[in-house]
Amino acid sequence: MAIDYSGPVGQLTGWWERALCAQIGSEPFFPEPGRTPVDAKKICQSCEGRIECLEYALANDERYGVWGGLSEEERRRLRRSA
Ligand code: SF4
Repeated sequence: MAIDYSGPVGQLTGWWERALCAQIGSEPFFPEPGRTPVDAKKICQSCEGRIECLEYALANDERYGVWGGLSEEERRRLRRSA
C-alpha cells in the first residue's frame, strides 16, 4: 500500500515537509499483514516531525500504517487509554 500524496496529507505543510518517509517512500510504513514495521519505527525515531505526525494521525483517525512511530495497534491502545 502506498500513501496517496495527492490527498489531504499531500497538502500539509510544516512537519510534512520534514517527514523522512516523504523522502524514502511509504513501503516500510505499510508492511504486509503479520509483519512488524521495525524499520519504519526506527526511521520515525529520527524524524523531526514525529510528534506532529502522531497528532495528525490521531486527530484524523488514520487507521493504517505507522504514523509518528506508532503502529495501528499502538495508536488504538493510545486512543483507548486517553
Ligand atoms: S514520524 Fe514517521 S510516519 Fe511520521 S512523518 Fe516522520 S517518518 Fe513519516
